[in-house]
Amino acid sequence: MGKKLFIKTFGCQMNVYDSARMADSLAPSGYLPTDSVDDADMVVLNTCHIREKAAEKVYSELGRLRLLQEEKLQAGGGKMLIAVAGCVAQAEGDEILSRAPYVDIVLGPQTYHRLPEMVEDVSAGGSGPVIDIEFPAEDKFDHLPEEAAPQGVSAFLSIQEGCDRFCTFCVVPYTRGAEQSRPVSAVVAEARRLVATGSREITLLGQNVNAYHGTGSDGKDWGLGRLIRVLAEIDGLHRIRYTTSHPRDMDDALIEAHRDVPQLMPFLHLPVQSGSDRILAAMNRRHTADEYRSLIERLRTVQPELALSSDFIVGFPGETDAEFAATLRLVNDIGFSQAFSFKYSPRPGTPAAAISDQVPEEIKRDRLESLQQLLRAQQDAFNHAQLGRTLPVLIEGSGRQPGQLLGRSPYLQPVHFDGPDHRVGYVADVCIAEIMTNSLRGTLALPEAGDPALRRASV
Ligand code: SF4
Repeated sequence: MGKKLFIKTFGCQMNVYDSARMADSLAPSGYLPTDSVDDADMVVLNTCHIREKAAEKVYSELGRLRLLQEEKLQAGGGKMLIAVAGCVAQAEGDEILSRAPYVDIVLGPQTYHRLPEMVEDVSAGGSGPVIDIEFPAEDKFDHLPEEAAPQGVSAFLSIQEGCDRFCTFCVVPYTRGAEQSRPVSAVVAEARRLVATGSREITLLGQNVNAYHGTGSDGKDWGLGRLIRVLAEIDGLHRIRYTTSHPRDMDDALIEAHRDVPQLMPFLHLPVQSGSDRILAAMNRRHTADEYRSLIERLRTVQPELALSSDFIVGFPGETDAEFAATLRLVNDIGFSQAFSFKYSPRPGTPAAAISDQVPEEIKRDRLESLQQLLRAQQDAFNHAQLGRTLPVLIEGSGRQPGQLLGRSPYLQPVHFDGPDHRVGYVADVCIAEIMTNSLRGTLALPEAGDPALRRASV
């Protein structure tokens, strides 16, 4: 008992969520989280395959861990177990054990509920390293402990995993497997537990979250829009978000939820990737740039406050100057409040990696610079448009300065303002007075007379 667990998480929020659930699953075996790798009895690298050279980065990280493992052993500190989890583990499999034989466990994203058994096996000795990168028939969520460590005011909840869309640049369908949704009752139960432990905002997670189709109370498949309406009935849950979505999976029910559900925040991350129809087809996105424009128009009609975020890939194989210009046109047409943009880089095993017509690096770099300049200008303009507005801010904790609180606007902007720290978890009205590089600053609206600005908080 009393062993220490260090988890290093790479990549997206799904991995952050998975890491927390792995820690929950190991708690009954006596493993408690530590922030220091030097203290750890077990280290888990929860890996991501999205970025370039992801596997090589994991191998260099493992090289460092091997030295630490040896030092601990020599100092009589016992064997530090090393596990590699996540998408690189899924993609590399046995290769990890042949290149890094000191690794004890290799497990894919669908088998982390089996981690305690694997730890028991390797700790008992004799079994050698364990590898489990199956896509098992059972749902891992049914086998994870219900008790989870509190996540704080803003929490993540995984509702869907895997993807059937097979965009030609993406490894997710290969590393996370086919699309699977959790039943509505399981999602609602977990949301209730999160709210009971202090969470006031829940971000629903999935690789393609709006493809959600979990079994509802009537035995039929429910979409994300219907799920959101049910979650909105939970007392004390002020805010709901979801990420990441595919434009083709924005159905009417979900669009209507943006109109009808006040807890659903007016902020949507909806990747478009490119503004060129030929490139979108080569990416297998199955929508055109104009279809994306019309979708945004529909969303903005039902929710005029909606702020948008997106992902962009520049320099996809064969992308011409004119096709890149189409992306800039689309950005100009839509107007984003924030966005993520990357140069295309091939992911081994994906169809796009096999296309011979790769765009030279310097062209990709120049295009990325122009795109980011435009996106930065749009983000600045969006932030400056908040000056003088009073925004509802969900208070997540203390700010850096004494007496300062930190929260988030409906549009996910961090907001600093002065206020009493016993109000963490409340929604306060904050008048935005200053725009900083990465955040907004404001003052509590009407802070006198018993904090009427906080009356709207319903904790
Ligand atoms: S929809 Fe998203 S997760 Fe699925 S293949 Fe495309 S980029 Fe990957």
